[in-house]
Amino acid sequence: MGDRDLRGKPVADAILEKVRVEVDSLTDAGWPPKLVSITVGDVEAVDVYVRNQRRVAERVGIAFEERAFPGDVTQEEMEVAISTMNVDPRVTGIIIQRPVPPQISIKALQTAVHPFKDVEGMNPTSIGNIVYNELDLAPCTAAASVELLKSTNLPMQGLEVVVVGHSEIVGKPIAFLLMAEGATVTVCHHMTRALSVHSRRADAVFVAVGKPKLVTADMIKPGAAVIDIGINAITKEDGSEGICGDVDYDGVSEVAGWITPVPGGVGPVTVAILMRNTMGALKRQKAAYEATFTQNSAAE
Ligand code: NAP
Repeated sequence: MGDRDLRGKPVADAILEKVRVEVDSLTDAGWPPKLVSITVGDVEAVDVYVRNQRRVAERVGIAFEERAFPGDVTQEEMEVAISTMNVDPRVTGIIIQRPVPPQISIKALQTAVHPFKDVEGMNPTSIGNIVYNELDLAPCTAAASVELLKSTNLPMQGLEVVVVGHSEIVGKPIAFLLMAEGATVTVCHHMTRALSVHSRRADAVFVAVGKPKLVTADMIKPGAAVIDIGINAITKEDGSEGICGDVDYDGVSEVAGWITPVPGGVGPVTVAILMRNTMGALKRQKAAYEATFTQNSAAE
């Protein structure tokens, strides 16, 4: 790790400290948060993520329940199960762990989650709200990446930012979150001609592609911030398994002003944002309940 590393842990800790205070006050007010994690089929594939989510949730006082469904469950059965959770007031947030078996449409499940319980920010309503600058339930990875950039204290207004990758859950939401902050955003993808022409003039570069070493030192302006979102499984020189990002860390860390390491950069902040979203979702549920209650009292 170098001294230009933009590490996730301090950013995550600061977010979680605020979340913990909110958990206490909402619990005292009779609104205890509870996350339900849904796994379908191969539980082992997601075990490490789920255990981590549970650890972080419990650290800040959020109840965490795991519900595992068999690998041959039908789409309809899953949607019924989610509808039941949507109307269960004890369940305040729903996470659907990926991957799911091929007969299950993940997008349909994300759409089935009530927008007020959509802590992952994956429901089309949540994604659409970002366009209106309603950012409290943004997709976790996108929001985490933007938090890391903000932690550099670079002024966001007018900042030249390039986002490499335009997926629905990472690249596109990052672009909208940055626009909401006043940044000037260029979005690049596999059809972009001369990626480096764009990336070299950027004050900050976000990379979310899934290709090791796609971004090299010659593509980065000296002093720029580089947020590496990629997670790629690799076999290291000594034969052991590991993960790396989309950025050539060794080269880019010589040039960049800030660089997020992989692992240890975006990942920890993503989980912290999941907890922050959990409180955002709960606050929406509380506000909706209170609005209905006030209306009913006024009608009596
Ligand atoms: P995805 O859906 O596969 O999207 C990849 C994007 O990269 C697409 O928009 C694709 O554009 C673009 N692309 C492909 N080749 C390119 C190239 N040569 N130059 C520029 N752009 C190119 O992946 P994703 O879900 O966004 O995830 C991206 C990476 O982030 C993966 O490594 C994933 O594991 C990681 N990830 C990390 C977290 C976290 O918490 N850190 C969370 C989610 C994902 P086209 O569609 O035009 O081909």
